[in-house]
Amino acid sequence: MSRYDYDLFVIGGGSGGVRAARIAAGHGAKVAVAEESRLGGTCVIRGCVPKKLLSYAAHFHEDFEDARNYGWTVGEVSFDWPTLIANKDKEIDRLNGIYKKLLIGSKVDLLEAHAVLADPHTVEVGGKRVTAKQILVAVGGWPERPGIPGIEHSITSNEAFHLPTLPVEVVIVGGGYIAVEFAGIFNGLGAKVTQLYRGEQILRGFDDDVRHFLAAEMGKKGIGIRTKTEASRIEKAGNRLTLHLNDGSQLTCDAVMYATGRRPKSDGMGLVELGVAVKPDGAIIVDADSRTNVANIHAIGDCTNRVNLTPVAIREGHAYADTVFGNRPWQVDHRTIASAVFSHPPAGVVGLSEAEARKGGHELDIYKADFKPLKHTISGRDERTLMKMVVDRKSQVVLGAHMVGMDAPEIIQALAIAVKMGATKAQFDAAIAVHPTAAEEFVTMRTPVAG
Ligand code: FAD
Repeated sequence: MSRYDYDLFVIGGGSGGVRAARIAAGHGAKVAVAEESRLGGTCVIRGCVPKKLLSYAAHFHEDFEDARNYGWTVGEVSFDWPTLIANKDKEIDRLNGIYKKLLIGSKVDLLEAHAVLADPHTVEVGGKRVTAKQILVAVGGWPERPGIPGIEHSITSNEAFHLPTLPVEVVIVGGGYIAVEFAGIFNGLGAKVTQLYRGEQILRGFDDDVRHFLAAEMGKKGIGIRTKTEASRIEKAGNRLTLHLNDGSQLTCDAVMYATGRRPKSDGMGLVELGVAVKPDGAIIVDADSRTNVANIHAIGDCTNRVNLTPVAIREGHAYADTVFGNRPWQVDHRTIASAVFSHPPAGVVGLSEAEARKGGHELDIYKADFKPLKHTISGRDERTLMKMVVDRKSQVVLGAHMVGMDAPEIIQALAIAVKMGATKAQFDAAIAVHPTAAEEFVTMRTPVAG
């Protein structure tokens, strides 16, 4: 008989925590999960899933317009925000129910309360003290806003999913993928959107061609991107908000959304008191096995601030459970992880940007295609697609593939297999094109544009 209540106690029932709990239970461990909000975590409740549903909704706007030149008569269209939010919430409830069913079906105990570590083997949760041999911290992250006067009048992505009405004019502050995605969502649904970013160009860390191309495409759709711009204070008068900007100008709107970064939710749960090493930005420090400096405490997902994406948190949770409970040790490879921006148009990227590859000492062949997609030859929409390949000149290995345009996330997911396998440009080209597609450009680009 174990001297602990559980073999594993997982704090946080999001993407990573749920996967780790289920796999560990499958290996025969006695497992409990504490979740203070709703099972499913950021991705399901207030992240990827609701965001993508809203993004789909925003696309209809252009679909109705594009249909006309294809011969369709589209009657008067209107959009009802409460209907979208209610149907989105219904889907989130359904997914939340599935997560619960899966956990309970895996014989994992669910404790729906905030958990705090009392010592390395004891968790205080819902007024009880529970002991466990192993602790897994999978508490995710939370939006962070600058402490400027009036910031309380702003919202974050959390609240954007529950606004009672669609704002007429929205200001989005931030240049990362969440800011860019919400700019596309609000704009597509009919709001006037201004995006403020204090840096030189949106999407820092992405390939420069992707950043400039996407910013231009967003501009064509009516999103006002103002770079090198930030707000110093926000004032509220009635239902209107005024942002005072660093260039001395003012902007008024109905809603201000800050998407200026996320902080690991590692505060206030006893970690520092136990001596678990945490960085100043809140990230729990772990090794390649997701182990903290306290031997029986591991941490995975966004609270470790490695690569903050759902499939990464899931992989880390799976590797942890197999390693610690399944007698099958393995580690997550954090290199060459594909990702998408569900902007309008969307972007998909895998591998190195041109700048990263050059910094890594590679001599490069760069391939680029910039074209009007076939659909828009008739629709008349002025939207273009960009594809770019970053190829190591000596070995001809494709180091990176980047795309902005319709279906980019779907296309990049498939390309990620080849890039992860280390395919060469010749191996890409050996695949005969699927015609007529946009994706075929990735196997037909013949001449490097730059070296
Ligand atoms: P989470 O999913 O955040 O789960 C942590 C859980 O722990 C939460 O449910 C929280 O309530 C709970 N918790 C915290 N502290 C405690 C405590 N002390 N006691 C009990 N419970 C606690 N990723 C993608 O891959 N693709 C996307 O398109 C994408 N879009 C996104 C859009 C938005 C708007 C946001 C915010 C994120 C998006 N992400 C996306 C990122 C993705 O959601 C996260 O990377 C992922 O959810 C991380 O999983 P996790 O398990 O680390 O944490």
